[in-house]
Amino acid sequence: MLNRLCSLVLIFALTAGFAPRANASAYDAHPKLIVILVIDQFREDYLQRYRADFKPKGFRLFLDHGAYFPDCYYKYSNLLTAPGHSTIGTGAYTDGHGIGSNAWWDLDRNKDRPVTSVEDERYAIVGMPMGSETGPGRSPRNLLASTVGDELRLNTKGEAKVFGISLKDRAAILPAGATANGAFWVDEATGRFESSTYYMPQLPDWATAFNDSATLAQTDQEAKFPGSKDFENQVGATAASITYEFDFAKALITGEQMGKNDVTDMLSISISGTDILGHRVGPDSDEQRQIVDGLDTDLDTFFTWLDKNVEGGLGNVWIAITADHGVAPSPAIAAQLGLNAAQIDTKKLVDNLNDAMNQKFSPGEKVVYVLPKQELPFLSLNRPSFDRAGINEQEAEAAVQDALEPTFQGLTKPSDAKLPAQSKLPPRPVLYRSYTRLQLAAGDLPHTEFGDLLAHSYTTNGGWYVRVVPAAFQMGLMKNNGTTHFTPYSYDRHVPLGFYGAPFATGVYHGRVEPVDIAATFASLLGVNQPSASVGHILTQALKPASEVTYPKPVPARTRRGAHATEKTPAKTPTEKRQP
Ligand SMILES: [Zn+2]
Repeated sequence: MLNRLCSLVLIFALTAGFAPRANASAYDAHPKLIVILVIDQFREDYLQRYRADFKPKGFRLFLDHGAYFPDCYYKYSNLLTAPGHSTIGTGAYTDGHGIGSNAWWDLDRNKDRPVTSVEDERYAIVGMPMGSETGPGRSPRNLLASTVGDELRLNTKGEAKVFGISLKDRAAILPAGATANGAFWVDEATGRFESSTYYMPQLPDWATAFNDSATLAQTDQEAKFPGSKDFENQVGATAASITYEFDFAKALITGEQMGKNDVTDMLSISISGTDILGHRVGPDSDEQRQIVDGLDTDLDTFFTWLDKNVEGGLGNVWIAITADHGVAPSPAIAAQLGLNAAQIDTKKLVDNLNDAMNQKFSPGEKVVYVLPKQELPFLSLNRPSFDRAGINEQEAEAAVQDALEPTFQGLTKPSDAKLPAQSKLPPRPVLYRSYTRLQLAAGDLPHTEFGDLLAHSYTTNGGWYVRVVPAAFQMGLMKNNGTTHFTPYSYDRHVPLGFYGAPFATGVYHGRVEPVDIAATFASLLGVNQPSASVGHILTQALKPASEVTYPKPVPARTRRGAHATEKTPAKTPTEKRQP
């Protein structure tokens, strides 16, 4: 009798309008759309410091209604934009995906300057007016691993749509991966969105219409740079550029019919304005707080728009939010508080290293052994010069490494900081550690977490090199309160990690996690393979039991047209309760 009653209750429950139990899976479009939001140069502590400023459905969608991880740290040590975006997409670090820097010396491809991580002379730029100076095309040619988007494309035989957007080429291309349907970024001078023949012979009509619309002129106006001819530097450092990116994202979702597919679609959006401004003003400035608040307003607007424009609303969307790296406090400010935040004159460092190499290998000459235009933490060596002197890689890298310590001690540029009292000596550059490429390749590293950080940063790009680790809070020369990111220190590695969507149990989850966990967790939930070099963990602590995961019911075809606004999760489902 009791069994019979239970059966009746069960039958009633199944027929009374509850959404069907649904395991998340890409193959039945659970969810319809995944958005991976990357905020360029965004330390986790911003969300704690400025929490009182935030709107109900911006960052608070993750902080109050999603699964939020306040202790997310990258576990590698070259915290730069191209490697960070590659790591988010591939769930692997530089030793897995290959991208070590934004640019590096590749003497086989270019003897005059470093090549960028995504430039590719075999392709051309699309979307710029005839006769524009566009430079080479772009592609993910240097990315050695698949992304979670690639796996989604592979497992659905190309049915899933995968796109990437940013102001920066590398930040649009690398998280999306080799199989992406498209990646879009802006022309630095004009701010028009462009792409590469790697993806498409010409821009889609919706993108051309966006470029020809009044949006760009309005954005320039709002940023107080009307008719700007230097979009990235001027407009790019304002909150208006963030709104501009989300406007383009909406045009893409509509134009490409994303979220209306029979399988899951995926879009990565990288917000660049926070980084362009942050390098100039530092993480503790009022200007940075204002752009964070501007971003929060844009997130609130964008999530509200998604709720109205994806089939079934936000209940059919998963969103992840993170950053490609954090940032150091401005050395001028850190030094005032007493930290040894020295600035290192990298040009002088390279010149002095070349003097030392000439003394050793070619007395009286001015041979270039260490290449110019270096971006820390890597110092690339000029192999042909060492070849001519009969020096092999091991001897060459060891010689530069040996010369580093005395060279650092010779860099005595006084800090720009106006010290409040004369009780402390001015900051001075300190070399914490250095490693040669061969040491990194052989894994000749300490068996500690610090050793792991270095091992995960090994790259085969850049030829012969020596990797420099200055003391904490130190970096190259900065103007005024400027700052940067590139080190193994926690301020560069600490980023937010938040999820919103049906499978995630609302809560704040303390404890170390990593951005590589995004790809692993999404792959697991979608039922696809993890990316080829993935080292992430699945964040099971934040996942609901499958029996509690529900999705809005598919809308019958005859009522679909114009019905988006009413396509809500059925009442009483956990999904809807969590929607703010
Ligand atoms: Zn960045």
